[in-house]
Amino acid sequence: MSTPFLRRIDLRGQTLDAMALRSVVPRADVDVAAALASVAPICEDVRTRGVPALLELTERFDGVRTTDVRVPAHALTDALAALDPQVRAALEESIRRARLVHADQRRTSTTTQVVPGGTVAERWVPVGRVGLYVPGGRAVYPSSVVMNVVPAQAAGVTSIAVTSPAQKEFGGSVHPTILAACALLGVEEVYAVGGAQAIAMFAYGARDADGTVVVQPVDVVTGPGNIYVASAKRYVQGVVGIDSEAGPTEIAVLADATADPVHVAADLVSQAEHDPMAAAVLVTDSTALADAVEEALVGRVAATKHAGRVEEALRGRQSAVVLVDDVDAGLAVVDAYAAEHLEIQTADARAVAARVRNAGAVFVGAHSPVSLGDYCAGSNHVLPTGGTAAHSGGLSVQTFLRGVHVVDYDERALREVAPHVVALAQSEDLPAHGDAVTARFAGEQR
Ligand code: NAD
Repeated sequence: MSTPFLRRIDLRGQTLDAMALRSVVPRADVDVAAALASVAPICEDVRTRGVPALLELTERFDGVRTTDVRVPAHALTDALAALDPQVRAALEESIRRARLVHADQRRTSTTTQVVPGGTVAERWVPVGRVGLYVPGGRAVYPSSVVMNVVPAQAAGVTSIAVTSPAQKEFGGSVHPTILAACALLGVEEVYAVGGAQAIAMFAYGARDADGTVVVQPVDVVTGPGNIYVASAKRYVQGVVGIDSEAGPTEIAVLADATADPVHVAADLVSQAEHDPMAAAVLVTDSTALADAVEEALVGRVAATKHAGRVEEALRGRQSAVVLVDDVDAGLAVVDAYAAEHLEIQTADARAVAARVRNAGAVFVGAHSPVSLGDYCAGSNHVLPTGGTAAHSGGLSVQTFLRGVHVVDYDERALREVAPHVVALAQSEDLPAHGDAVTARFAGEQR
């Protein structure tokens, strides 16, 4: 028998606290922090040299020398005219469902009357300009155009730019299906730049050799990508806002003996085909299921189109079967792992799913596979990876909004609270803070 695809981590009979669990769950050898060493010089090169650096980096990483980073407008309309009608129908349905879900995420401004004459409002205001990254290295992702653009539009962002790697096969332009998806959504500003250099281009803006501004900087950069893209987002965070670190994809499946091993194997393979660095993790209390999934993987991996990278992903340190005593112990493991995608394939899957705390997105029961969410569930597929789902959520309308507090007190309301402001200012040894309030009533005290 050949060696199993997935290594096993046997946690049965052990009681581990959350910190110990975090150290035993499978993780990739190369993480976002490690990739920063190669990404930082790329970002600095783009920041200092602009477009000439972008063209050189595109030649180095994507193997094509281009003369312009911007995709001309006619390329978008041409691509839409030539789009396969079935793909067009699928994209339109994906857009329709995503719009339904994201419209419901819009925030309503609130006004709280704190005291008579004193209100605090929170106004939700969209950011002015966003840069959206659409991957295009090993695969091209028109679905990621939908996932980035729909929430930005639903939030009311008015300036939207998209970038995706230059494709040698298409003369250094962006893949035509991505261009067609942009045209369907009404996006006109598209760049043929990929990787870390694309993230830096949006963060810093870019000038031509003669100093002309070619790309205006943005306020927020979003989108999924490989380890270099995720790492570049971490590098520029602070200069711009980012959504989350949506790096190489991960699937975790929490399953018991009731799960269908063929479905579990199919779902693990479906995410492993993204990237040799993708993670596929099965957490189960059933060794019979683990064995049956391994058996099902043998035929599936051999038959699948991208068998090479699927096998590399499954055999990588980031993938594993984790054996646990029961579903409760499995829940503790998946919370410690904080998967980008988490499938629950257990008896009473809804009740188990309701107890999950850390995951980018949860897929409930036998008929909600991750690939449904990748394309057509209506949910967003740009989701946090590498354990960051413990503190970050997926891309949503909220990513593009800021809550602006509006404080409006009248004289009476300020007078009433003035002694408290003064007392707190004195306790912090910042008396000028108190003075700024009492100055308004100085005449009365004289
Ligand atoms: P990509 O567009 O993310 O990356 C391609 C770019 O990577 C190239 O243009 C190049 O500039 C850069 N690059 C390649 N090798 C490099 C190196 N050695 N040093 C520096 N830069 C380098 O496309 P991809 O590679 O196909 O990856 C897509 C990724 O997106 C996959 O990992 C997939 O799992 C992930 N993804 C994640 C989510 C999510 O929400 N987390 C969603 C969809 C896709």
